[in-house]
Amino acid sequence: MTDLYRLLPEEMEKLVTDMGYPRYRADQILLPLYYKFPKDINDIPQLPKKLREELTEAGYTIGSAKETHRVVSEDGDTTKLLLQLPNDSSVETVLMQYNPTKIGGHPRSTICVSTQIGCAMGCVFCATGQMGFETNLKAEHIVSQVIHFAEILEQRGEHVTNLVFMGMGEPMANYDEMIRAVKILTHDRGFGLGQRHITISTIGIASGIEKLAEENLQIGLAISLHAPNNKLRKELVPTAGPNSVEDIIESGRNYFKKTGRRVTFEYALMEGINDSLEIAEELAKLLHGNGSHVNIIPINPTAGDFKRPSESRVSEFEQILSKSGVNCTVRVEKGTEISAACGQLRTDMID
Ligand code: SAH
Ligand code: SF4
Repeated sequence: MTDLYRLLPEEMEKLVTDMGYPRYRADQILLPLYYKFPKDINDIPQLPKKLREELTEAGYTIGSAKETHRVVSEDGDTTKLLLQLPNDSSVETVLMQYNPTKIGGHPRSTICVSTQIGCAMGCVFCATGQMGFETNLKAEHIVSQVIHFAEILEQRGEHVTNLVFMGMGEPMANYDEMIRAVKILTHDRGFGLGQRHITISTIGIASGIEKLAEENLQIGLAISLHAPNNKLRKELVPTAGPNSVEDIIESGRNYFKKTGRRVTFEYALMEGINDSLEIAEELAKLLHGNGSHVNIIPINPTAGDFKRPSESRVSEFEQILSKSGVNCTVRVEKGTEISAACGQLRTDMID
């Protein structure tokens, strides 16, 4: 079985022409796939019946990820879906809506997609990391996460504006499927989302960052740093071994050089662990003059024993960075009460 959401537009074209049909039949599949969200090949009536039958016989399907649960936060801004995959495993995906009347600026509907079920990186503060690694997601199941929300938004007259790879899993550890999904989602004959509206977040796998820099894409990059030195980082990210803090910063610098896209360093702030003012100074020294941006994420509760620092500590930490010229923001978290915020995703927590 092959889900048609797996195919790049060029591959769709090859599929129909190899079957003896004219090229334009590919667009007759692609347009509804990304704008009408059919659930079955027979939901594309403009395709000749014979082609629909031939595609079905050849093992093509549509929408192999099915929604089994939906949870909406009390304020209605965050929605979490549980999608069931053909192998019976499930994946979580989140929609966060930012209302301009609350935060200023344009309304945003950001989807946070997962790239793996579980994660092998084992970060001690992350629920996904604590569940261990289960499996890599296929590109079509990454694309499907976006499609499910695109359909929900379309019913309200809205659309997907941004996409972040910050759900379950480490995108660089599933590089090929992740980048295939990115290409489908940004292709103007695919989903057509602007490259600049996508951010990939990585724990800092330098080889993956280098590969991404070579793709000639305008995608934003976020690197989860969490510590200014290797000793502390290794305690928080036990698998950080092969890539030192210096390597990671260097690959971030190269990414900026190659793409012109500013790199964000994410820093999950944990009371008594990485929130001292000395550590803030160390971080400021490390990143000073780099043109980089730090996004502080006061830690979200998971099963682990980590606490959010007080608001005053968060702002002191932020000020030390800002004063030394390191651009810095504190992330506005959404969906904590439905376990949909950063680091809280794990498939057995939805109910
Ligand atoms: N694996 C990638 C992307 C998924 S995690 C990465 O680690 O970057 C997305 C972000 O959530 C990362 O910055 C991660 O450090 C952060 N995160 C994980 N657990 C968290 C928690 N409990 N509270 C706040 N942020 C968390
Ligand atoms: Fe994996 Fe990212 Fe969680 Fe670390 S923070 S365990 S890399 S998902």
